[in-house]
Amino acid sequence: MIDLGLSLGVMVFSVVVTLCLVLFLNQISKKSGNLIIKADALHYKIDLFSNLAVIISLLIIKFSGFVMIDAIFGIVISGYIAQSAINLGKDAFGILLDHAASPEVTEGIIKMIKAKERISDFHYLNTRQSANTIFLTLHLVFDKDISLYDAHEVADSLEAEIREKFRDYSWQITTHLDPYNDKEGK
Ligand SMILES: [Zn+2]
Repeated sequence: MIDLGLSLGVMVFSVVVTLCLVLFLNQISKKSGNLIIKADALHYKIDLFSNLAVIISLLIIKFSGFVMIDAIFGIVISGYIAQSAINLGKDAFGILLDHAASPEVTEGIIKMIKAKERISDFHYLNTRQSANTIFLTLHLVFDKDISLYDAHEVADSLEAEIREKFRDYSWQITTHLDPYNDKEGK
């Protein structure tokens, strides 16, 4: 015979404590983007769901005698664990594998280039993101009469603006200063 009162008391206490921990870890993982904390939050979230499932099964078994509910909850929760673990694994792979920067970043950069009066055109804009670092290469086309000094100033200020606007990333920027559009020929 299950001692329902004691079991429920322990489970409810455990649920409350775990809930606090999950909320705390979720907040930190959102702020920091740290995957290990996210994984830990998932671990405690699973504990939380398991404990809730145990409470509900205890009540259902007590009042209906339907003992299969225990196994049903077990299957549902293990499915949730598997799905969450796969998603977490995908996130981790995404960080390990290099990929292009997000469209928001690329569009933001293009907007900043277009806002620069002395830059007439650009091409070969390439981004590659590895973990939190974005490698950016691009060619900036200036009027051919601009001094190298001035063109360099404009390119430098563009770089500073990019770093400032997307300061969550660390940047490796290489700009090539063109006196004409060498992509299309002279
Ligand atoms: Zn070029």
